[in-house]
Amino acid sequence: MTEQPGSVLDNFLGEISKSLASAVGNVLINGSASDRVEATARTAADIHDRAVAGLAPMVAPAPPPLACRRGCNYCCHVQIITDVPTVIRLAAYFRVRFSSQEVDELRRRINERLDRFEGLPEAERRGLRLPCPLLVDGACSAYEARPLICRSYNSFDADACEREIMSGRSDRQIPAYDVPLRVGIAVAKGMEDGLRSAGHAHGSIELVRGLRIALDEPQAAELWLAGSDLFAPARFSS
Ligand code: SF4
Repeated sequence: MTEQPGSVLDNFLGEISKSLASAVGNVLINGSASDRVEATARTAADIHDRAVAGLAPMVAPAPPPLACRRGCNYCCHVQIITDVPTVIRLAAYFRVRFSSQEVDELRRRINERLDRFEGLPEAERRGLRLPCPLLVDGACSAYEARPLICRSYNSFDADACEREIMSGRSDRQIPAYDVPLRVGIAVAKGMEDGLRSAGHAHGSIELVRGLRIALDEPQAAELWLAGSDLFAPARFSS
């Protein structure tokens, strides 16, 4: 099912992109700016997770068990690319659920990481294997609100993750479950299409830089919806 071009899965993924683009247009209409932007990210994440769960019984042959477990975080040592609604949702998630000391501690980890990146060429940054600042005691502290790519990446072999990721390789050879990856690409496209149609800035941003901006600017959702380019310093170009 996952191998054939033009298959039922391809059509389903196309429908996911379209329905998410339409859902993004709808959630951006009502509510406060932060509610609208956070709902955009939440809708995308929910559609992703539901689609992956719904497709699982139809995948043939059934995939082997996933190696991903709480505390296994090799994939949390690479640069994470995400979108503006997700970093705004994450900033709100931390403000609501964490103490001001914990948020200060998160800022300290963010700044420490960005200081290590300062002045390095992009290729070298991508090869650094620094832990994501959202990791606490080895696990994601914002698991519920994590970016799409973090939801999409599922490995069958933790040893391969350790060997390929921690060595800094860019041509990683890791046996990964392709259904969530393909769903994630479809959902990201749907979000981008929906934001573009609604006239909002779209495109990819780097998680850590974007989250620092969203944490530093409590009015980030209002400003972004009003057309401010405040996330420009976090923009990612491949
Ligand atoms: S956001 Fe969470 S899941 Fe994603 S890389 Fe960071 S710690 Fe890992």
